[in-house]
Parts: sequence; structure tokens; C-alpha cells
Amino acid sequence: MTSLIKNLQDEQATIELGVELSLRVSAPLVIYLTGDLGAGKTTLSRGLIQGLGHDGNVKSPTYTLVEPYELKDMQIYHFDLYRLLDPEELEYMGIRDYFTDNTISIIEWPDRGHGLIPQPDITIHLNYVDEHRHVEVTGLTDLGREIVGKLDK
Ligand code: ADP
Ligand code: MG
Repeated sequence: MTSLIKNLQDEQATIELGVELSLRVSAPLVIYLTGDLGAGKTTLSRGLIQGLGHDGNVKSPTYTLVEPYELKDMQIYHFDLYRLLDPEELEYMGIRDYFTDNTISIIEWPDRGHGLIPQPDITIHLNYVDEHRHVEVTGLTDLGREIVGKLDK
């Protein structure tokens, strides 16, 4: 297991970690983001998605469950499963079709989709520390470990 543990002083530091990740990742990849509401999961996703070349807004997928981003050479699907009431909703969405060789999947609240979404290459857990944040990034597959190992300590 390869992990990076870091303090994130402010919102900009959270975005920068996402941007730094964007320089290392390639499709296919599955990233889980965990931590309480407001911990910074969407903020980090914004840095990652914009770092990968999306130059518009990154909205929280809270109400839509998923926001797609079509980039030149890959798709990004940004999920937020917080509001998922019944895992069957994912079946109706055709969830399996989202995870292709050309896709980076970023999943907030992955526990809600247990059994219906693939295992992660990387998990990112965010915690509150006073008004700041603390993050632990862990690589779980060979690819995930390689990416996390290259992040700055
Ligand atoms: P989540 O998706 O986990 O619910 P969001 O990213 O939507 O959380 O919101 C996090 C909030 O915390 C935003 O207001 C953001 O500006 C702020 N934030 C993000 N990172 C930090 C940080 N490192 N320190 C302090 N505030 C942060
Ligand atoms: Mg969020």
C-alpha cells in the first residue's frame, strides 16, 4: 500500500492536489473520494477535472448523480452517490457502461454504490482539522500505487 498524507491549509491547496493528480493519471482509472459533507471532495475533483483539460465549471453532481466531461482523448465521469436511495437506480442508469477503458471515474460517496461500481485504483479520504483539511491518498492497485508514489510528499 502506498499512501500520501498531507495537510491542506486552504481551498487552493485542495485544488492544487487535484491538479497535481491530473498530471499523473491516465484512463482507465477509478478514484473514490470519501469524507464528511463539506470535507472538500468536490473541490479536489474540480482541480483534477480542470487539470485534465476541462475549462468550464465543475458542478457538484449531487442532484444528477453523475456529471460527464468529454475531453479530447478520454471521458471523465464524476459521480456523487450521496442521494442514491436505492442501488437499483444505478442499474437503471446502466452503470456498467460508464466504466470503459477510456474513462476516468471519480466517485464521491462510493459506499452507496457498493457492489455496483468497480474497485478503486486510488482512494482519497478528506478530514476536517479545525478550519483546514487533512488528506490521505492511497494507491490500491499497481497503477494506483505508481501514481500516488509520484505525488510530492
Ligand atoms: P464535499 O464535496 O466534500 O461535500 P466541497 O468540496 O463541496 O465538499 O466543499 C468543501 C468546502 O470546504 C468548500 O467551501 C471549500 O471552499 C472548502 N475547502 C476545501 N478545501 C479546504 C481546505 N483545505 N481548507 C479549508 N477549506 C476548504
Ligand atoms: Mg461533493
